[in-house]
Amino acid sequence: MNTDAFIAGDHGLAAVRSAEETVWINPRLLPFDVVDGLSQLVVSDDDIADAAARLRRFAPLVRRAFPETEETDGLIESPLRAVPAMQKRLSDGYGAQIPGRLLLKMDSHLAIAGSVKARGGIYEVLKHAERLAMDAGLLAHDDDYAKIADLRDFFARYTMQVGSTGNLGMSIGIMSAAIGFHVRVHMSADAKQWKKDLLRAHGVEVIEYADDYSRAVAEGRRASDADPMSHFVDDEKSVDLFLGYAVAAERLAAQLRAQEITVDREHPLIVYIPAGVGGAPGGVSYGLRRLYHDDVHCFFVEPAQCPSVLLGVATQRFERANVHDFGITGKTDADGLACASPSSLVTRIMTNHMAGVFTVSEAHLYDYLRDLDASEGIRIEPSSCAAFAGPVGLLRCPAARDYCAAHGLTEERLHRAAHIAWATGGRLVPAEVWEEYLRTYR
Ligand SMILES: *Cc1c(COP(=O)(O)O)cnc(C)c1O
Repeated sequence: MNTDAFIAGDHGLAAVRSAEETVWINPRLLPFDVVDGLSQLVVSDDDIADAAARLRRFAPLVRRAFPETEETDGLIESPLRAVPAMQKRLSDGYGAQIPGRLLLKMDSHLAIAGSVKARGGIYEVLKHAERLAMDAGLLAHDDDYAKIADLRDFFARYTMQVGSTGNLGMSIGIMSAAIGFHVRVHMSADAKQWKKDLLRAHGVEVIEYADDYSRAVAEGRRASDADPMSHFVDDEKSVDLFLGYAVAAERLAAQLRAQEITVDREHPLIVYIPAGVGGAPGGVSYGLRRLYHDDVHCFFVEPAQCPSVLLGVATQRFERANVHDFGITGKTDADGLACASPSSLVTRIMTNHMAGVFTVSEAHLYDYLRDLDASEGIRIEPSSCAAFAGPVGLLRCPAARDYCAAHGLTEERLHRAAHIAWATGGRLVPAEVWEEYLRTYR
């Protein structure tokens, strides 16, 4: 592919092609009101409200199957926590000026799956289970959904399948197994051994591929399509996954209100979310844009070695973009972000909503991991740590400073800003793997 033409049209892509740590600012970002109508045709406010209501109906079942969710009454939700010591460490250690407050959204510690995938993945499993049970006359809208726990024999006739680098497989696998589905997880070469072991311990069938994530998805899709009793969770285009992630926005809004953090033009909200195929950051960001319009600024963060969502949006080749076409390796220790091609749905729907994408080096993933552990005593996995490249880069990268200037993020407003680094995974990492992470330098 002739990548020079893309770079000639968008100079920011030169540093991306050389796999440097950089920021790419999205020239197609539009004011919310301009894109609202078109966006709603694809995913509407009603769709998101419907997803939120479904998760509430399922709460009694989730609570029964996973006692760890008792505290949140069967809702799978994570804390939002200010991290002032990390904020100071980032400014001292990296020369990063981070005006305002830095907060950590701890999806790293979500119940059941220990990652952001507990939002989208579990939502899609529950929605599918609801439809099967309703079609069979075994469940009605007004029932207490806890009774689904007694339908294991019914669900055992059906199979759920998914392609995954690890965490999506864990979320689909653990929830599907709890409901009684037969589950097959197709895992790419990037998947960590401990994730495969954990899934097998839950009775999940794990199929391993020596190839990358796209291959695992393609094989899983093929196997599922050949079986009428099987449902494939399609990370590259599923609207249900997207909706599960989008529900995060109203939950976050409630947490911000509870912590008396205002979001408006004078108090901007800036979020930084690690992206693999784009589903999780896409759904969360889209939900936030629907609530906060132009007062929220949504940045994705990707490994410099695997910026697939960035390239999909920047080139407008969407799911046909592939990091290898730009001579980028696609190889990263951030296993949750190791997707060489992005989601077709997310690259399209976020084209006019996304502020830009920061890229992060392999070395910094581990540096930030140690920094957060040392400063706040919080451990999140390397993929999650990508998020910190956002607040570190915002006022350091000239292109990001230009973004601030162009979008009314003045010095005064930035001093009142809330920056949210979205921690996307970590709770299930075994102790010996933490020791290895803490000792890794790239
Ligand atoms: C999956 C994942 C992401 C990104 O989600 P996508 O939907 O693939 O973009 C980020 N961090 C972690 C830890 C993940 O597992």
